[in-house]
Amino acid sequence: MTSFDYDLFVIGGGSGGVRSGRLAAGMGKKVAIAEEFRYGGTCVIRGCVPKKLYVYASQFAEHFEDAAGFGWTVGEHHFDWSKLVAAKEREITRLEGLYRKGLENAGAEILQTRAELVGPNSIKLVNTGKTVTAERILIATGGHPTPHSALPGHDLCISSNEAFDLPEFPKSILIAGGGYIAVEFANIFHGLGVETTLIYRGKEILSRFDQDMRRGLHAAMEQKGIRILCGDVLQSIKQADDGRRVVETLNHGGLTVDQVMLALGRVPNTKGLGLETAGVNTNDKGAIVVDAFSRTSAPGIYALGDVTDRIQLTPVAIHEAMCFIETEYKHNPVSPDHDLIATAVFSQPEIGTVGMSEEQAGRAFAELEVYRAEFRPIKATLSGRTEKTIMKLIVNAADRKVVGAHILGHEAGEMAQLIGITLKAGCTKDDFDRTMAVHPTAAEELVTMYTPSYRVKDGQKVA
Ligand code: NDP
Repeated sequence: MTSFDYDLFVIGGGSGGVRSGRLAAGMGKKVAIAEEFRYGGTCVIRGCVPKKLYVYASQFAEHFEDAAGFGWTVGEHHFDWSKLVAAKEREITRLEGLYRKGLENAGAEILQTRAELVGPNSIKLVNTGKTVTAERILIATGGHPTPHSALPGHDLCISSNEAFDLPEFPKSILIAGGGYIAVEFANIFHGLGVETTLIYRGKEILSRFDQDMRRGLHAAMEQKGIRILCGDVLQSIKQADDGRRVVETLNHGGLTVDQVMLALGRVPNTKGLGLETAGVNTNDKGAIVVDAFSRTSAPGIYALGDVTDRIQLTPVAIHEAMCFIETEYKHNPVSPDHDLIATAVFSQPEIGTVGMSEEQAGRAFAELEVYRAEFRPIKATLSGRTEKTIMKLIVNAADRKVVGAHILGHEAGEMAQLIGITLKAGCTKDDFDRTMAVHPTAAEELVTMYTPSYRVKDGQKVA
């Protein structure tokens, strides 16, 4: 029998890699994990976690304004970017420590190095040049923001990677893209007082979401003062003498801003990993091709998380890691379930969603019942804000199953987590109807929409 240095070698210390390494080591397997940057990966270091902290930071200006409607007089206040960056840094360093500790306690060997494949079971540790062997290799190297190299002046732009730690706080920013990252950062920067413009190539932001959510959020963002340029793309970026960015757009002429941020999707981190040498196939986007059990084309080599470009979400990578452990080490083959994943856009207001949009469901089913409510949240009655909450349930008329739930409003992400359970459980609209409301909440609307707002037949809206 061949003997290896390790039972499992994990490349990548992000959500998927750390979970796999920790669980395997906890089962007594000899595990090593290699990370070239910081443990915690995109989610902890320059993604979900710092993003959420910045979302909170960006909400205070509105809280201070709203307070007046409730009898409060708020004194002088101002925002200090460097204090926020430092506080964020302390928190992600703490979390990074927890990730390392979890691995350490489980008995995994933690390596601070880039690692590359040099053969079917062999990995080179780039820092030392040493080659080690493993029975199984797991690639969980994640992805990075697309640099959009074809764009003249792309090197003058920042991505979400840099946005968290800008040495100087910008007075104005132009953000390109209409997806999660572009929309979330547009709201963050605007909330922190930055003059913000969003430029998106399509007709409406957030192309894969329900139309009501897209239009509703667009309107809310514009009302706050975010400029949104749809149907437009960047043509070039140049640096002005004063260091600012001079941008040419296709349809809206030129504008000068302090920073340009590109949020045009993310690409898998597969370059230079030695995949060809090891016989690991990639697709045309450079993502590692895997089967239903996260197995690559090379025996003994597995991949999961963003590097496989299935669904780029932290909980998905963690779930894929747990399935990998079940399958490979517990003799219980489990393939990841990518159906009905609830998700949130941490815009302001938030979007929380699970299941099909009305448009998708209209294509999938002959007849739909659509339940829709649009209302002013209670808090807005005294704060004086004109914002609206929108809630929507999409029901397949044939069996009355709720196939989509969409919420635009405060804490929509929290609601999406819970309503996600009901869709996963296959609940029908009747289950919703016989659930007592929690009063007074916004969420109660989800169980008190008794009659359809309209129906959709063969994809067409009818009364
Ligand atoms: P998205 O895929 O969400 O959005 C990319 C955006 O860039 C889209 O609007 C797309 O337009 C546009 N785009 C792509 N290529 C071009 C181009 N050549 N020219 C102009 N526009 C272009 O990616 P993000 O970068 O925002 O986020 C990456 C992933 O990270 C997301 O898919 C998501 O899974 C995850 N994420 C999740 C978050 C959450 O759960 N809250 C937060 C942040 C990220 P079009 O729509 O027309 O294709």
